[in-house]
Amino acid sequence: TIDPTSDAAIAASVTPRPIEEIGDRLGVPAAALYRYGPDKAKIALDFARKAEAKADGRLILVTAINPTPAGEGKTTTTIGLGDALARAGKRVAIALREPSLGPVFGSKGGATGGGHAQIVPMQDINLHFTGDFHAISAAHNLLAATIDNHIYWGNALDIDTRRINWRRVVDLNDRALRSVVVGLGGPGNGFPREDGFDITVASEVMAIFCLARSLEDLEERLGRMVVAQNRARQPITAGQLKVTGAMTALLRDAFQPNLVQTLEATPAVVHGGPFANIAHGCNSVMATRTALGLADYVVTEAGFGADLGAEKFLDIKCRQAGLTPSVVVIVATVRALKMHGGVAQKDLGAENVAAVSAGTSNLVRHIENMKAFGLPAVVAINRFTGDTAAEIDAIRAACAAVGASVHLCSHWADGSAGAVGLAEEVAALAAGPSAFRPLYASELPLLAKIEAIATRIYRAGAVAVEPGALRKLGEFEAQGHGDLPICMAKTQYSFSADPTRRGAPEGFVLPVRDVRLSAGAGFVVALCGDVMTMPGLPSRPAAEDIFVDETGFIGGVF
Ligand code: ADP
Ligand code: MG
Repeated sequence: TIDPTSDAAIAASVTPRPIEEIGDRLGVPAAALYRYGPDKAKIALDFARKAEAKADGRLILVTAINPTPAGEGKTTTTIGLGDALARAGKRVAIALREPSLGPVFGSKGGATGGGHAQIVPMQDINLHFTGDFHAISAAHNLLAATIDNHIYWGNALDIDTRRINWRRVVDLNDRALRSVVVGLGGPGNGFPREDGFDITVASEVMAIFCLARSLEDLEERLGRMVVAQNRARQPITAGQLKVTGAMTALLRDAFQPNLVQTLEATPAVVHGGPFANIAHGCNSVMATRTALGLADYVVTEAGFGADLGAEKFLDIKCRQAGLTPSVVVIVATVRALKMHGGVAQKDLGAENVAAVSAGTSNLVRHIENMKAFGLPAVVAINRFTGDTAAEIDAIRAACAAVGASVHLCSHWADGSAGAVGLAEEVAALAAGPSAFRPLYASELPLLAKIEAIATRIYRAGAVAVEPGALRKLGEFEAQGHGDLPICMAKTQYSFSADPTRRGAPEGFVLPVRDVRLSAGAGFVVALCGDVMTMPGLPSRPAAEDIFVDETGFIGGVF
């Protein structure tokens, strides 16, 4: 049975426009659209490249307070704001990540927005879409197969089979694959060794796919990836295994940005989807730059809260891709602020103005942090039906106290009409020149960059780096990687490394347990806690609700 209030049912109540019409809104001719059915297309690479070379639109970033289980609604707000800008007559494109099948079948669900602020066809986008993630999985696994094959045929590179860090990937949550032994079954099957699987979105190939500026750049970056060490403990790169040409061939079609639409027929470029912990967590540079070349306003989203997502968007993606954002929108909800104020999830239904007030400490910290990047921040309250006027006033008061403007938004219930005020202010702010600057200079030592993020964004009192990690930072610098930005892998739930510390903790010690080089993606990952690169499924996976009816309608995707 189909729940009429579900996202799938709301999406089904709107007939999408032919994709040519969506392309036309951005000046993309039908000949430059490779259609995947009536309502999905890839923008041909040569056309996209001409557009991205221009990339002169205004870039608006949607980010959020630290997430809580109560939910914030960044994607929903990105779509609502895009629709509201279009409603105001602006030429606009939305740029979003592609969903991974892991969360779609797990507990988080899809990533196509919700209510009346969705991109469609939501089922297709959430399930396979145009096959990009399969291409990325294949490219990744080709390299994995090549490593074992190289060892099988004599191991000319002297790869230390105990020190291979290139695992295999599949785009599903499958905890049974986290640690496996490969090469069992006798001499004909190679040399047994410990291995494991990550989810595809955690692959460095995904991060590279999302940061590369061209197919040439993509192949060069793939070649720089460090996949193992030899017996002398020197790095072995993917380039030495000679299959980066074949990997790039597998990725060629996928590298073209995907075009879809919102329920209000606003163009949306949906492309790439790296993890937000060990990677930078935003859609591809190709998509963002192509959208900026085609539209006057581009609204995009970064994963997690602003401490992680926005910081990486600004310090990694914008720096590498030469992007200058104009405005940041910080999404907050009454429910999540209540949790930051100490309320348990089961008690979220009851009005609690004092808790909302207390929880605004988290929001205010993020507002202040955006100033460190020279960017104006606007707060969007994503309205939920149970929110009370007094609770909303508590958020307004906290924002007024720090001079930040707030807009109460109901795009989830009302579509573009619910985000008109937000769109007006964002457009006005974007009209001025941008004073954007990254948080730290590339030339700083790697440790100093980690400290800059920890003390200025998280407000840690100190950083405690494990001796082994410190030694590796020195090695990375000696190998010529000292100019790379830092990709922090920290819990998304707190400014600190402790997920239970909500609100705005300060003066804590941030532990850095390990560091990893992502030489192809172009960043050094600092691990501040355990990072899961192959999630598991919950006791009742969302997959149990997904069905197809006689007409082919897919329900149960949310
Ligand atoms: P994020 O991008 O921050 O992870 P999403 O925009 O994907 O969040 O929203 C998460 C979930 O919350 C989605 O299922 C969405 O439908 C739901 N949601 C978002 N905003 C609202 C709202 N105002 N009222 C009810 N549900 C909402
Ligand atoms: Mg999202």
